[in-house]
Amino acid sequence: MRAMMLDRAHEPLRLEAASAVPRPGPQEVLIRVHACGVCRTDLHILDGELAHPKLPLVPGHEIVGTVVEAGPQVTTLAAGARIGVPWLGWTCGECAYCRSGRENLCAQARFTGYDIDGGYAEYTVAHERFCFPLPPEYGDVAAAPLLCAGLIGYRALRLAGEAPRLGLYGFGAAAHIAVQVARHRGQEVYAFTKPGDAAGQDFARGLGAVWAGGSDRTPPTPLDAALIFAPVGALVPAALAATAKGGVVVCAGIHMSDIPSFPYRLLWEERMVRSVANLTRQDGEEFLAIAAKVPVRTATVPFPLEDANDALARLRAGRIEGAAVLVP
Ligand SMILES: [Zn+2]
Ligand SMILES: [Zn+2]
Repeated sequence: MRAMMLDRAHEPLRLEAASAVPRPGPQEVLIRVHACGVCRTDLHILDGELAHPKLPLVPGHEIVGTVVEAGPQVTTLAAGARIGVPWLGWTCGECAYCRSGRENLCAQARFTGYDIDGGYAEYTVAHERFCFPLPPEYGDVAAAPLLCAGLIGYRALRLAGEAPRLGLYGFGAAAHIAVQVARHRGQEVYAFTKPGDAAGQDFARGLGAVWAGGSDRTPPTPLDAALIFAPVGALVPAALAATAKGGVVVCAGIHMSDIPSFPYRLLWEERMVRSVANLTRQDGEEFLAIAAKVPVRTATVPFPLEDANDALARLRAGRIEGAAVLVP
């Protein structure tokens, strides 16, 4: 099979044209990949900012595919089932986090496209308990960004609370989905892009943001909560400054540049800063049901599998409107 491999950080992915098709373990399924989203996290892995991937690695954790073979102990999936595979690839089920509904924090968790080979390939394997059935309304390419951008955005929205006026910092794959869910929940959305990114601001307004501007701007009204999707630590004090008393700033990315020091008055009056890590399977089930109901429409830019390096470069440069998706 064809697969795009990461041999070491700071190098482009390498096309392996005749890689062995993986064999499913007893509780795993072999999946023919139809589409795999490209996530900002993949760039953090390539850049060595997430420093301990398995190597060589097949990246990719927004996988849409069809089961072609089930391991001998698999009970819930059979050949022909269309499924999605997210970042959370395995948890122990036994630790204090797993037993308290916080499997996203499991100390032994294994992540797809990081600890486990992912979906930048024609085939992959996944544990049956960490595959989601996908809403039939979505085609394969359209469904891919739901599996990380959508899910993490949903968890971030949930942790931000009701927040009638919501800011989104960084208007990429995650925000373009979150704005639609937030509007469905009756929230007013204020979108912040890189200063001067008029196209990104138009994109945000087109999806229902009531206001869009550069991240150096002050919104016309204070925010009740802000979600930060861009990996830029300087946005934390900027978002706090834009947030009303008692507001919350949620950092949704897995990596961020250092947060500069800031005066305590920005945090004062019960403002909060928190992060969102990974996802639980409950987040996935809830979000996929809501996405179909809204209905969330994903904007995607498809690339052939072997153009993964090009897709990653365009994502890095901010030249993707919505989400890049690889199609093997
Ligand atoms: Zn655990
Ligand atoms: Zn991701």
